[in-house]
Amino acid sequence: LRDLGEPAEILVEDNARLANLIGRGIADRGFVSDQVASLRHASDALREASFDAIILDLGLPDGDALAWLSAERGRADFPPVMILTARDALGDRIAGLDAGADDYLIKPVEIDELAARLRALLRRPGNRSAPVIRIGDLQFDTATRVVRRCGAAIELSRRETDLLELLMRRAGAVVHRDAIVDALYHFN
Ligand code: CA
Repeated sequence: LRDLGEPAEILVEDNARLANLIGRGIADRGFVSDQVASLRHASDALREASFDAIILDLGLPDGDALAWLSAERGRADFPPVMILTARDALGDRIAGLDAGADDYLIKPVEIDELAARLRALLRRPGNRSAPVIRIGDLQFDTATRVVRRCGAAIELSRRETDLLELLMRRAGAVVHRDAIVDALYHFN
């Protein structure tokens, strides 16, 4: 179980194989995600924990995801939403954004692009989450990418910063070399 204080995404996707693929893919890129397969479970999860972002499939078994989004969005602390769907018509994209989504990705999705867009979503000013990851006396501000130890800023190269973020997001877990290489070298 994740520590409820750490930044996490919620993935709402009823295709178990795809959900696992996306969950593992973004985990390799430093994101922690909880997976649910229905709108009802998404509502339950959002009541029980706070999330930095929602990754939302539109074709879910228990209702219209856009109607759900419009209804839930008014809630305080509602996180930014990335719609992930096979519906690629212009009208669908507009309806999704109008319903309150912050971004829209068409399946099949490239995990690197999804991760990059999630990072962009989390960086946006005005989003509830300008998450600062804290471990011991180390603080990582994911919005400004400033690292502090005991309050003093530490200078790191861009890749060192990326590596530190990855390790801090997955603190306590073993991070395999392949996952680090994938996360740091997105473009081969
Ligand atoms: Ca689906």
